[in-house]
Amino acid sequence: MKFAITGKLLSTCVLLLVTVSVARAQVTVIKAGTLVDPDSGTSTSNQVIVVESRKIKAIGPGLAVPANAVVIDLSRSVVMPGLFDAHSHLCYTSHPGRRDQFYLDLTETTAYRAIEGTKNAREMLEAGFTTVRDVGNNGRYADTALREAIEKGIVPGPTMINAGRIIAPFGGQYHIQPDRPELGNPEYLYADTRDEMLKAVRENIQFGALVIKIVVDDQKYIYSADDIKFIVGQSHGAGVKVAAHCMTTRGCRNAIEGGVDSIEHAFQVDDEVLWLAKDRGVVLVGTDFPEKAAEYLGQGTEFAKMFHGVFLDRLKRAYKIGVPMAYGTDAFFAAPGETRGTIAISYIDTFVEAGIPAKDITKIITTNAAKLLGVDNERGAIRPGQFADIIATPDNPLDNIQTLKKISFVMKNGVVIKR
Ligand SMILES: [Zn+2]
Repeated sequence: MKFAITGKLLSTCVLLLVTVSVARAQVTVIKAGTLVDPDSGTSTSNQVIVVESRKIKAIGPGLAVPANAVVIDLSRSVVMPGLFDAHSHLCYTSHPGRRDQFYLDLTETTAYRAIEGTKNAREMLEAGFTTVRDVGNNGRYADTALREAIEKGIVPGPTMINAGRIIAPFGGQYHIQPDRPELGNPEYLYADTRDEMLKAVRENIQFGALVIKIVVDDQKYIYSADDIKFIVGQSHGAGVKVAAHCMTTRGCRNAIEGGVDSIEHAFQVDDEVLWLAKDRGVVLVGTDFPEKAAEYLGQGTEFAKMFHGVFLDRLKRAYKIGVPMAYGTDAFFAAPGETRGTIAISYIDTFVEAGIPAKDITKIITTNAAKLLGVDNERGAIRPGQFADIIATPDNPLDNIQTLKKISFVMKNGVVIKR
């Protein structure tokens, strides 16, 4: 059936829409005692931020407060953009004391993991992480379900750029046995031939991945630079970036030469390949475990010391060389007295130990990560047009980075989450 819409009816409809949207436009004004701009590493005093609906509308000293505005007084606090974790695993929780954690996680259903993910997502947001890049280990797309539930406002959580299933050579990150090759499924999408790689990229994107994650070098056979170039070509062609898990110098070199957007962990990479990363503008997401977080992996204090030590050494070298870096944690475990968010922010300790200035850490955990995730036009700064992802701390992180562990206020998309 066809409807003839008369001019009068059309104008009535338009009027109705305008009236509804005006009535719903919530204006919030934040009075910021100190406002930090992580990109320039500077701060200003007594700024007024006007938030309308989900976005920042205006900002400046002494702006008039609209009559209908809700005023949030943060004049005694330091205000800055929300934090980023560029390497999360929200739908994966390894519990201490559990034997053979990787295999046991395979006994959990995707549905259970999505529910567990909602807890981790809320805890991340409450700790000030308003955006994450979630890099796999989510069963059969629990991450897509979680992202959609967050986007629809069904559950609270950070904005997610999710990877779907991790694409890897046969076996993934496991050392499976011939009777049970399916044990790596669904955690990994095995892709060894070009046809399998093409299919894996397309399947991921079809099922909601916004970034592609590959594992380069966890087996004796590793992805070549040409393999990676192929995956990157297919991914970039579809408008998604590629994150590469690579531990060794050889794996990192292949990933960089293959054109990935970021190398993850780069645990044992040498200086020559770090220089290559710098020259090509490939971002290091270091997942630089502090000693305490390494202890939560449950392999003893000696292991934790060694594990942390290798990350610390690589972080120092990468910083000295000037490799672009974005904050990413790899927090995939539970620990007594901690939330997923408190664990994730504890990784700043490794940066402090490496002697990296607070100003640079502040930029690495906001501006740099927003660029890597491709969301810097929308998030990662407090300026008009950006989504209102805003946090507050007692001290200025440009001087005292530890203040990021004491976040007193969190707003995401203009909605107050914690106060
Ligand atoms: Zn990881």
